[in-house]
This record gives sequence, structure tokens and C-alpha cells, in this order.
Amino acid sequence: MNQEYTVDPSRLVSPDSTPSDAEEINLRPKTLDDYVGQEKAKGNLRIYLRAAQQRGEPMDHILLYGPPGLGKTTLAGIVAQEMGVQIRITSGPAIEKPGDLAALLTNLQEGDILFIDEIHRLSRQVEEVLYPALEDFALDIMIGKGPSAQSIRINLPRFTLIGATTRAGQLTGPLRDRFGILLKLEPYSPDELAQIITRSAGILGIPITPEGALELARCSRGTPRIANRLLKRVRDFATVQGDGTIDGEIAVTARKQMEIDALGLDELDRSLLRAIIELYGGGPVGLETLAAALGEESVTLEDVCEPYLMQMGFLTRTPRGRCVTRAAYEHLHLTVPRHLRADDDPEDGQQSMY
Ligand code: ADP
Repeated sequence: MNQEYTVDPSRLVSPDSTPSDAEEINLRPKTLDDYVGQEKAKGNLRIYLRAAQQRGEPMDHILLYGPPGLGKTTLAGIVAQEMGVQIRITSGPAIEKPGDLAALLTNLQEGDILFIDEIHRLSRQVEEVLYPALEDFALDIMIGKGPSAQSIRINLPRFTLIGATTRAGQLTGPLRDRFGILLKLEPYSPDELAQIITRSAGILGIPITPEGALELARCSRGTPRIANRLLKRVRDFATVQGDGTIDGEIAVTARKQMEIDALGLDELDRSLLRAIIELYGGGPVGLETLAAALGEESVTLEDVCEPYLMQMGFLTRTPRGRCVTRAAYEHLHLTVPRHLRADDDPEDGQQSMY
């Protein structure tokens, strides 16, 4: 039974960065004007940037939160560019000891930006060192051990911390309170993603029609990283099976061959929905049970599949477990069970099973 549902974990539609995304760096917009969408966050940021520039001061500390691949690192780079300062990029898990953080902070220049990705994964001890650094631009370091231990204070240059997290809820209260600016990034609309795809295609020299861009945009799960990745993969199909141009037809053929459906669901997403329907009568079913049935890690299902399936309204989380919705049955062309049908639906709900 497991066999039937087991799928390849290397996913084209994963929002996390993979080594094959190395080219991303060329596709990153460098200015706020090139940064597509996120109008609310961008509008606020423009004002804060201008105010800091007029006062000749560094920006306040900024927390960016939102799912992976939506442009948090890119936005941090743009802030550095607009402020004309250097940016140092690191991540929560990379700063293992307080000494690692001290080394990073003491190497900053006045006004520089320190970008910490996955900031919710900083250890407690490192966080404690960060507090005075953020508030007073100072480091309190303990020298020696036992009764002769001494605390000395080192002044730091005034810097801006930009923290990024996919899980704002996991940030400790004291850390969250030290950010003056909180910006939430939202999934992008298909039109915005089509703009991003067209821009990236221009940079990479890939001919693409507006229909081709929109088709790829629709199955990019609201995420620019996925959009750029699909663009590069579909280019191969256009080269081999067409005349090199990505038009609507090539885009559809390519995504079908890659087993990605029109809404961006891949085989793993569909297997998850199908398993709940076929093995557990549509749910509720516990995450662990589901993971075992699919031969997948439960964290993969929780972090990689579920956010998008819930966003699309195909899946709900209840205290008793996961349930699929009527929309999921419809999307998979399966007969909607009676309990999910509206009262005025045709009694037998005959739908094709293909
Ligand atoms: P995150 O840090 O949130 O995981 P990144 O900043 O690394 O995401 O963005 C992933 C890729 O998506 C970048 O290489 C960039 O090219 C593209 N991208 C993200 N946001 C935008 C945007 N608003 N406009 C254009 N491209 C974007």
C-alpha cells in the first residue's frame, strides 16, 4: 500500500532554496522599483527608508516574515542598496555560540546591515547577547570563570538587523519587541508572478509570450522562487520540443510532463489528498498516520505540502486531524461524498472519475 503513494522527495514546486537555484542571485531585483508586488510592505519601507536617509541615521531593525521564497533576502539586499551600506548575510542555525555572534557584530561598519535568516532558530544564549546589541549597540562579554569572572562592555557601530522568519509565532516575545519595523510578505498573485517571470526571462534571454508567462505563474504557488525555477525547466522543453519560445502551449505541455497540474499541485500534494480520501474516507486523520501511509516525513508534509493545500482550500486542520474539503474532491475529479455536498446538489452527484 505504501508503495502506491511513495513519491520522489526532490520537488520542483518546493519553496525552499536548493543548489540548482544558485542562478537566483542574478535574478534578484536590486531596487525597490524592480521588486514586483508586495505593495503594502514596499510602500511602508519606502517611507522608512526616506526618513532614515533624511535623518542620516541607520534604519530601525526590521523583521520580515512570510513563507520561504517570497523575497525576504531580496528585500534585505534592496534596503542595503538603497541605504548605500554593506550587508552581511547569515542564518539562525549558523550562529552556534555567542562568540559567533560577537565576531559578526564587531566586524560591522557604521550603518551596515546584518541579515539573519531563520531568526527563530537562534539559540537562547545567542539571543541574550543580541538584546543589548539591538538596544544599546553594545556587547556584554564575560571574561574568565567563577568568582573572578568579569563582564566587560564593548561598543558596537550602529547597525540595522534585518531578521527573516517563516514562523513569526516561534519568535520569543523579547526578540520580537526589539524590531521597530515588522513587514509581512504575502503570496503573489498570478499577474505579479507573470511579471516576475517575464522579467527573469528577459535577464536569462528566454523568449516567452504573455500566455506562457501567465500559465507558469498560475502553477507557481504564489512563490517567485518556484516561478523562476519553473521558467528554467520549461525553457528546456521549449528548446527541445518547440522553437525555443515559451508560449502557452509549450508551458502546458511542459507542466503536464513534469506532473504539475494547473494549480501547481505536484504528485506529492495529490498523493496526500488521495490518501486521505481513499484510505481514511476524507479524514480526519492524524499527521503521523498520514506520513506513515505516504512513506514521507511528517515535517515534509506539514511544511511543504500543507500550507499551499490549506491556502487553496483543499485541506483543513482540525483538532482530530486532517480533513479534505469538497474543493479537493472536485479538483481531483472524484465524486463528492454526500456529507460534503450542499443540500440542493443533485442527489447522486455523478462526476467522472478520470
Ligand atoms: P526568501 O528569502 O523569502 O526565501 P528570496 O529573497 O531568496 O526569498 O527570493 C527567491 C527568488 O525569488 C529570488 O532570487 C528573486 O529572484 C525572486 N524574487 C523574490 N521576490 C521577488 C519580487 N518581489 N520581484 C522579483 N523577483 C523576486
